[in-house]
Amino acid sequence: MKKTKQKSPNWKTLRIGILLFVLIVVVKGVWQDNNQDWRKPIFVALYPINGDQTAHSQNYIAKLKEQDYLPIVGYLQSEAENYQQPVQFYFKLGQEVKVLPPALPEGKSVFSVMLWSLKFRYYTWQQQQELGIKPNLTLFLKYYDPAVQRELKHSTALQNGRMGIVNLFASDKQNAQNQIVIAHEMLHAFGATDKYDLSTGQPIYPQGYGDPQQSPRYPQKTAELMAGQIALSEQKSKMAESFRQVVINTDTAKEVGWLKP
Ligand SMILES: [Zn+2]
Repeated sequence: MKKTKQKSPNWKTLRIGILLFVLIVVVKGVWQDNNQDWRKPIFVALYPINGDQTAHSQNYIAKLKEQDYLPIVGYLQSEAENYQQPVQFYFKLGQEVKVLPPALPEGKSVFSVMLWSLKFRYYTWQQQQELGIKPNLTLFLKYYDPAVQRELKHSTALQNGRMGIVNLFASDKQNAQNQIVIAHEMLHAFGATDKYDLSTGQPIYPQGYGDPQQSPRYPQKTAELMAGQIALSEQKSKMAESFRQVVINTDTAKEVGWLKP
């Protein structure tokens, strides 16, 4: 009786110690995910996935090379330079992943989204074990044959855990637009928010416009990366075709930490 009484406070202390340690690790992880130190290099793991299980997408994926994604690095570097912010991104193209990531829940209940994000974290962790590096950001690139799938579902990237699922077209003609979509999702993972109306796809004025000061205001010549669309009028817009038509404006720069708020 006496013995157990003496023992239990030690066990309690140890358990509390372990819990505190876990808590510190989690809080530190969340803090780091929300406060990127841009002086440090950022390793991005890219995993292609055959989204529609077609031979067409399979052939496209088989030809992918790491260099294909380099224009994204160049684009982000030159945009960050506008804010005197050096950034270093390194892409690593992993093996094609045969197991599909957990599907996003149809309903948007807090519980189903939380459960999905846990499953997705576990899935991401499993893939990272194979690659043998611990990337700062992990993106699963799901490719679809444009002849089969005319429109793609929304892509998703999470800031906490730094991981995302990006839906893309398996077509060389679409490569430039695919790069825009990947850059857009990358910045979500660093805290940038969407700058378009989620119901209409129309860029939000002024933060979603390439040049909000332009006079006359329409048609805009460029898109803001987090809107992705060029506003042609108040109601009309078109997808930017290449990085030449896409800028990163101050709201996004502040959100990701390139510009002091
Ligand atoms: Zn978005």
